[in-house]
Amino acid sequence: MTVQLEGSCHCGAVTYTLDGIPDAATACNCTVCRRYGVIWAYDWVDEKIHVSGETKAYARGDMLDFHFCPNCGCVAFWRALRSEDGRRRIAVNLRLAHDPEAIADIPIDHFDGLDKFHDNERDGCTVRDLWF
Ligand SMILES: [Zn+2]
Repeated sequence: MTVQLEGSCHCGAVTYTLDGIPDAATACNCTVCRRYGVIWAYDWVDEKIHVSGETKAYARGDMLDFHFCPNCGCVAFWRALRSEDGRRRIAVNLRLAHDPEAIADIPIDHFDGLDKFHDNERDGCTVRDLWF
């Protein structure tokens, strides 16, 4: 049976599930992500990732929306506005995971979203190193 990772905002109104433990997590230095302080795990809407609960969204250009809980403010996920071949990209914020230990050893991809728009080489950093 596949492990299912669960996460929610602090008040619990917005939740997500992710099937399996992701191979990698992304920390990004773009102007939005560095402000949010998020750690992303990617998949596709209603494939490995399911989200529920009412959110408010902040649109970044015409590509994607960042969704947060209107009550407690936690950023839960971003979601592409359009689909590619019938699938829609989504990423959830691993900082909202219920069990930090379950994701502590996932390697971090440092995505340079500010300048070069690609992943830097891995440096051995894992989610655990970014908790605090
Ligand atoms: Zn909340």
